[in-house]
Amino acid sequence: MSAQILDGKILAQRIKDELKKEAGELKKKTGKVPCLVNVMVGKDASALNYALSQQRCAQHIGLEYRQEALPEKASQEELEDTIEKLNGDFKVNGILLYKPVPKHIDYAKASELIHPDKSLEGVNITNFGRMLLSQTRLVPCTAAAVMEHIKTTGVYLRGKEAVVVGRSEIVGKPLSVLLLAQHATVTICHSGTHEAKRLIEHIHRADILVAAVGKPQMVQGEWIKEDAIVIDVGINQVDNKIVGDVDFESAKERASFITPVPGGVGPVTVVMLMRNAIEAFKLQSQL
Ligand code: NAP
Repeated sequence: MSAQILDGKILAQRIKDELKKEAGELKKKTGKVPCLVNVMVGKDASALNYALSQQRCAQHIGLEYRQEALPEKASQEELEDTIEKLNGDFKVNGILLYKPVPKHIDYAKASELIHPDKSLEGVNITNFGRMLLSQTRLVPCTAAAVMEHIKTTGVYLRGKEAVVVGRSEIVGKPLSVLLLAQHATVTICHSGTHEAKRLIEHIHRADILVAAVGKPQMVQGEWIKEDAIVIDVGINQVDNKIVGDVDFESAKERASFITPVPGGVGPVTVVMLMRNAIEAFKLQSQL
């Protein structure tokens, strides 16, 4: 039987509506609305598109959205000054630093300057430490989006084999911690697993498989365990088409649930940013 499709647009809309309600209640209580600021250096077309979809999402929920656009030739110092200024601005609750940045900018250094309670991506040393100690505040967005999809399946994760392919700071690593917190037995695969030719054996025993690699349709349907939940984070452009890291057509014949690409994890990730903006507002307002 073919898998149930986990539609990211429907899930994103549902969470957006919940957040809209919450933002309305916060406004009634405090007279304020959460404010998020995007910092962009230069004008990258994909970043501008992404910014537009975030702006629409923020407006739908009722959040204040601002853009700090720095010129392509802005220095590291100028970028860091901008971040420090936003850190110190009590009207700003969340900050997001866009990628890509020009080559002369050290993204990691600038990003780490964002105050942990204002970091909408949730990817920084303090938040990671808190996650590992089960004191999570702002959850890294893509990892949070994956968990929201898994939640909709209603499957209880305790003791389930969860295999995450990819160990990046923004997806694989935080996601592994979140799955562990739900008592799954977690395996993280990476290029070393591939080189050791052991990727397929790990994927084959996954009750929950998450692919976050960035290699078009790398995971074949026949590798997947019957009735597994398959979450495809990958976004790869092939001949003007966007495809995931999983070969969707063959995988949907094995899986019980599967996310499509596009329209799976992506739309929910944007909403998770907004959720973090609301969480950041609550943290800063001590609510
Ligand atoms: P990344 O930083 O490039 O990390 C890729 C990971 O895959 C690395 O850990 C790498 O291993 C591992 N890897 C590479 N080749 C492999 C192979 N053959 N077998 C097993 N593991 C392999 O990528 P990322 O930022 O996590 O993004 C991954 C994908 O998700 C991309 O397509 C990206 O566009 C997409 N993405 C989507 C969203 C969304 O909202 N939907 C958000 C973020 C990213 P090593 O660590 O050993 O190098």
